[in-house]
Amino acid sequence: MAHPEAAASPGERLRWQVVEAAPEQQQLFETPPERIVGTGEFRGLEFLPVQARRIINEVPKTSPVPFRHTINAYRGCSHACTYCFARPTHDYLGLDSDVDFDRVIVVKVNAVERLRAEIAPKRWNGDAIAMGTNTDPYQRAEGKYHLTQGIIDVLSEARNPFSILTKGTLILRDIDALAEAARRTSVETSFSIGTVDEEVWKLSEPGTPHPMRRVEAVAKLNEAGIRCSVLIGPILPGLSDAPEQLDAVVGACVDAGARSIAPILLHLRPGVKEHYLGWLQGARPDLVPEYHERYRRAYASTEQRNALTATVRDLIAKHRRRVRRSGSNRAMPTLSERFERPR
Ligand code: SF4
Repeated sequence: MAHPEAAASPGERLRWQVVEAAPEQQQLFETPPERIVGTGEFRGLEFLPVQARRIINEVPKTSPVPFRHTINAYRGCSHACTYCFARPTHDYLGLDSDVDFDRVIVVKVNAVERLRAEIAPKRWNGDAIAMGTNTDPYQRAEGKYHLTQGIIDVLSEARNPFSILTKGTLILRDIDALAEAARRTSVETSFSIGTVDEEVWKLSEPGTPHPMRRVEAVAKLNEAGIRCSVLIGPILPGLSDAPEQLDAVVGACVDAGARSIAPILLHLRPGVKEHYLGWLQGARPDLVPEYHERYRRAYASTEQRNALTATVRDLIAKHRRRVRRSGSNRAMPTLSERFERPR
C-alpha cells in the first residue's frame, strides 16, 4: 500500500514520508548486499538481503498522522502499482524507482530479531505500530522470507497493538495468528481495493492479486474476528471513477462486511508523476492532456475530493439499504473520511 496517506492532509503526508525515508536509507547499505535471483514462484524478482540497524521507524512528533511508529520489512514492491507513492524511496544504490522498484526487493532479514530487541520492556512504551506504509508487507517476497509473519508473532506475544494495510491475499496464510493477536490486543487490517474493474486492475496494478480475491479476503478476516476495512484507492480519474465502477467496488465492499470504507483520489507527487504519466502515455494516451491539466499540483482539488467522498457516502447508504432489504442484520460499513489506524 503504500497507501497510508489518507490519514492526513497533503502537506502532512509529504513531511511524514520524506522524514521517515531519509534516515533509513542511510542505515541500510554500509556494505553492498549480495543479490539473490528469484526462482520458481519468485522468478522475475531479485532480493537484496540487508541487516537493518533499527526496524521500528519513529514518525516525527510534529507530524499529525494517526500513528507514531511504522515497520517496513521490505523496500520496493512486486505489486508494481503504476501510481505507487513509495517509488522514490527506491532511488538509491544504483536502483531506480521504475523497473527496479517492482522487481529488486530489499529484504531486512533481521527484522524479527530487531523487533524483539526494540520492544523489550523498559525500552518500549507499547505504542501501536503501522505496517504497509512504504511497501506491502504481503507482497511476493513475504512468501519466501516470512518476515511479516514473524513480526505479527512478536507483536502478538507482547500484546502490542498494530495495523496492516495490504493488497496481498497472502495475509490469509496468517489468519490464525492474526485472530490470536486480535484476542490479545488491538489489530486493524485494511485492504486497498481501488477498483473491481478487471481491465483497469490489470493495467494499473499488474502484480497484485485479483480485486475480487481481495474482497473475499476482507470477508474472511472479518469472519475470523479480525477487523478489516477497505481503502478504495487510489481512484484514477478517467479510468476507475465512472459512476458504475464506483458503484461496483462499493457494493462489493459492503457485501464483504468491510468495517469502514475510505475513498482516496489519486495524487501525483514529483517522482511518481513522471512514472505514472509515462505509463499513461502508453496505456491511455487520450487521457494525458486531462492529467496535465488536473495535476498541475500533486493533489486533486478539495472540491474534487469532496465530491468523491459524497458519491461514496451515497453509494454506501444505497448498498446498506439493499443488504438490509435482503433481511440481513449483520454489521455494515461506515464511511471513513480519515483512514483509521490504532493510536
Ligand atoms: S501495493 Fe506495493 S506497489 Fe502497490 S501501492 Fe502499495 S507499496 Fe506501492
